[in-house]
Amino acid sequence: MRNTIQRTELKTYYYTPVHCPFCGTRVMGADPADETRITACSHTLFIAHDTAFEYRSKRFDENLALDGLTDKEVEKRWIGEEGGVDGLTDQVTLADSIKIAAYAPAPSAYGSYYGFAPSE
Ligand SMILES: [Zn+2]
Repeated sequence: MRNTIQRTELKTYYYTPVHCPFCGTRVMGADPADETRITACSHTLFIAHDTAFEYRSKRFDENLALDGLTDKEVEKRWIGEEGGVDGLTDQVTLADSIKIAAYAPAPSAYGSYYGFAPSE
């Protein structure tokens, strides 16, 4: 069995800004003027939420065989997965990869997903 990405879930402090565990880059909300702006470091595999990917790295695309697909085709892929974006990003098998899943409480039940892996 291949190792899949290690998951950490934020449910109570889901709004805590997420930083890369390998270099400390704040990947979301680093710009006070625009908190939705993302900053991907070299370790960032993906930044996503339940309805779209904000960022996908080449390593991530290659690992899940998404490289060469159009955004529309990628969307089709995760819509077809159990759990959608959350389910698809759980399938990453890069060595020592880490996923942080932040779930806003019901009724919104909105998830944000951040993936990282060490680089060589
Ligand atoms: Zn980093």
